[in-house]
Amino acid sequence: MIRADFHTHTTYCDGAGTPREMVEAAYQMGYTDFGVSGHADFSFCDPGFGMSDEKLAAYKRELEELREEFRGRMNIYIGIELDGLGPVQKAEYAIGSTHCVEKDGEIVCVDDTEEKLEDAVLRLWKGDWYAFAADYFKTEAKVYERTGCDFVGHFDLLTKFNEGFCHFDETKDAYLEPALAAMKRLNDRGLPFEINTGALSRGYRTQPYPSRILLKELCAMGGRIMINSDSHSPKTIGFQFDSARKLALECGFKRVCVLAPGGGFREVPL
Ligand SMILES: [Zn+2]
Ligand SMILES: [Zn+2]
Repeated sequence: MIRADFHTHTTYCDGAGTPREMVEAAYQMGYTDFGVSGHADFSFCDPGFGMSDEKLAAYKRELEELREEFRGRMNIYIGIELDGLGPVQKAEYAIGSTHCVEKDGEIVCVDDTEEKLEDAVLRLWKGDWYAFAADYFKTEAKVYERTGCDFVGHFDLLTKFNEGFCHFDETKDAYLEPALAAMKRLNDRGLPFEINTGALSRGYRTQPYPSRILLKELCAMGGRIMINSDSHSPKTIGFQFDSARKLALECGFKRVCVLAPGGGFREVPL
């Protein structure tokens, strides 16, 4: 049986565990396949955040050594999490994520703090969260063209601070129409979408990304999924994967994608 997680972070970006700590934790948990996906250089938005080219090279070297050490016991994949507005640095696989949206020449990070996001929506979108969502999903729709990513990370990250729909109603057409247009465009490229439990482990949300409504729509489109934790610590690898798997089954999915050691994906039963 395959146990896998392909969205994790280390001390090379904003994670709390070294590559060795993360890899050893995954191995101790019985993982067969483990991918590390450090943030690409994020200095277009937040100076010092993410990996410079030099850091990325050291990150790859360290993970290549760990891969040799764990060969035959656990497959290790060396990835990167790219942002649709950021530089395109290379690794063995890339997650295409949308953390930011540009408005009137300003870059707004949607997952930094709730206060900063509220302030930005008030100033730049005159308090119209649906207009903000439409701009977010326009950026999301282009994430493949901009990054050449292998799969889509946390598709609806803009809902991080929207637990209980406190800012906007995620069931309204004004929200869903731009979201589904972006989803369709990315699904037409054949990209899997991850179910991401990162906001659960960090206590921001009670449901993973994407929302149940969006997952059902993805299934109806014939879309594919992965299940990833977006772990920033060894303790949250595989966080609530059982409930993510149950959610996927309830939304109609039968299979989940996992990376293959030679490149590409394998699809295995949920
Ligand atoms: Zn991310
Ligand atoms: Zn991440």
